[in-house]
Amino acid sequence: MVKMGKDIQKLLADLNPRQREAVTYGNGPLLIVAGAGTGKTRTLAYRVAYLIAQGVPPERILLITFTRRAAEEMLKRATSPAASDDSLARHVWGGTFHATANRLLRIYAQSAGLSPDFTILDRTDAEDCLNVVRNNLSFSTKDKRFPRKSTCLDIYSRRVNGNEELEAILRRDFPWCLMWQDELNQLFREYVQRKQQQNILDYDDLLLYWYYLLQEEALARSIGSRFDHILVDEYQDTNPIQSGILLGMRRFNNSITVVGDDAQSIYSFRSATIRNMLDFPIQFPGTRVVTLEQNYRSLRPILETTNRVIGQARERYSKELWSKRDGGQRPHLITCPDETRQDETVIRQVLEHYEQGIPLRKQAVLFRAASHSQSLELALVRHNIPFHKYGGLRFLEAAHVKDLISFLRISENPRDEMAWFRVLQLLRGVGPVTAGAAFQHVLANHGTQSSLATFKAPPAAQEEMAGLASLMGDLQSMADDRPSAQVERIGEFYLPLLERNYEDPGPRANDIEHLGELARRYDSRRQFLAELILDPPVSTGDLAGPPSRDEDWLVLSTIHSAKGLEWDVVYLIHAADGCLPSDMATGDNGQVEEELRLTYVAMTRARDFLYVLWPLRYYHKSRGLTDNHSYAQCCRFFTPDVTATMDAVVAGDGHRNADEVADNVPPGRIADRIRQMWR
Ligand code: ATP
Ligand code: MG
Repeated sequence: MVKMGKDIQKLLADLNPRQREAVTYGNGPLLIVAGAGTGKTRTLAYRVAYLIAQGVPPERILLITFTRRAAEEMLKRATSPAASDDSLARHVWGGTFHATANRLLRIYAQSAGLSPDFTILDRTDAEDCLNVVRNNLSFSTKDKRFPRKSTCLDIYSRRVNGNEELEAILRRDFPWCLMWQDELNQLFREYVQRKQQQNILDYDDLLLYWYYLLQEEALARSIGSRFDHILVDEYQDTNPIQSGILLGMRRFNNSITVVGDDAQSIYSFRSATIRNMLDFPIQFPGTRVVTLEQNYRSLRPILETTNRVIGQARERYSKELWSKRDGGQRPHLITCPDETRQDETVIRQVLEHYEQGIPLRKQAVLFRAASHSQSLELALVRHNIPFHKYGGLRFLEAAHVKDLISFLRISENPRDEMAWFRVLQLLRGVGPVTAGAAFQHVLANHGTQSSLATFKAPPAAQEEMAGLASLMGDLQSMADDRPSAQVERIGEFYLPLLERNYEDPGPRANDIEHLGELARRYDSRRQFLAELILDPPVSTGDLAGPPSRDEDWLVLSTIHSAKGLEWDVVYLIHAADGCLPSDMATGDNGQVEEELRLTYVAMTRARDFLYVLWPLRYYHKSRGLTDNHSYAQCCRFFTPDVTATMDAVVAGDGHRNADEVADNVPPGRIADRIRQMWR
């Protein structure tokens, strides 16, 4: 306190009185409910800094955010404004619910009935694992079509993340699967058993094990008492099991701070519910509720529009926002004849702002679905404009990445059957039967990976099997070496297989090299592996490093991945019904409301300039061989009430403002002409 006293005074001067109240509030439960850009995240970051300045040891603070990137950002914010010693904040436990679960479960593995070397399945592995179980149970061969593996995993995930019974979930969200209720139940039972036998966890298990550990009083006392303070950002997007975890963590100490905005809740498909936020004061009696209404992010004209957008929500708790940031132009609503013109318009505007001094990285193009930026990406490449794309990157699903991860997973956990099968079948002359026999052989030899050397492989497979056995032996003895060295050793064995197994080995080999570079940031294989699976690179640039041309790049992002962030200029593209709201999400009012909130999240990312674009004509691949197009309608959330606060622009026509054009035509002339046709 004494050491950082002056710094803290400086830091508190950066806040408005209500933010300050929240930052300096004592221990008890604290809920900050406030709209976009009101400084919720800043308040949370400053509270961390304040607590540290008060003498709370940083490692006794747990800061939960939606992405690791967000936690890193916040801890930087927590230190840079004032603190003289920024090494302190590095000791704070920061990250997502899943990453925190991973760390805690390694410590409490024994109590959880796990071995601490458990490995984590990503989503596609979990689907594949379910699929194996489904085939074993012969459900896939029934006359009526059994739900697909991804649907099965969705149902399973809803069941464990929410607190509803299977039947209720099926009835509401998957009525066509209701006839399979008993089979699904059996499938999930076997799936759980299989994972436990193999010492593997899927994403949901991380939360589930954490939750159940906390149901034991002694463990709740032990785990909860590791932290003096728990702080959670974006609380509106947590689900029931996450709120259950927080309750368990705070059974014996109620110092918890959560912040959220119900108007920005966009993850109901992951069972998130704003009930968590609304019920917080009931779950934590004595909660102090702080609300914030001043928006510091956006210029006033932008806020006028976004207030009207969210004004259409049927249910809303957070208040209308106001801003002191005067001036600037009204948001533009730009109608483009087609997608090509939309791309050109974005690029021209980006370059214009760039010329005015706004770097590319302070400008972002946002869209509802990852596929919506495809044509823009090609256009950007043609114009030689560097960009990073966030969200929708299926990095972990790339086959070669999975291959590499599988080698590491086996070294970590020899019981990991999925990983063994993947690696073994890369070898010449090895199919599922040989792979199965080899796996059983290793298990029979107490899971010693190098025991593969004594496995009698068919003649065609012997040479490569021997190579794999020696690799696995090396990796075992390298267990304490740096993970980058291990990746390099794997590369020696794997690259020739990659050349043979894939048609486009070049870029894939580059990825493997980049993974080796990424591995350099980690000290242990276990940590590298867990973080890779829990928090895979989110942008194309994360892996490849910054674009070589210069250090600046345009941001392309799905709306979901843009949560909590801000840019000077925001372009929302494909704001047409069918894309936004997505035609996958107009089934019921609840879904449409969520799309409205998504639109709101996208628009409230803008600080100074906001452009909303939509192509009138939309090309799509038809089922046949030819390309087809249809005519779109502007996104339904841009009602006359909203567009009254925007400037309507028609792209093409020299990018002229539609109102300006209208000024040149005397009012009523068109209507007169039409009437005169009938004279
Ligand atoms: P979102 O709902 O989008 O997550 P938020 O409520 O978390 O937004 P922040 O990201 O914390 O808002 O803040 C928005 C912007 O306003 C940031 O640039 C932040 O630095 C700035 N800001 C917040 N509070 C103040 C303040 N008291 N004085 C000046 N700037 C502020
Ligand atoms: Mg925020």
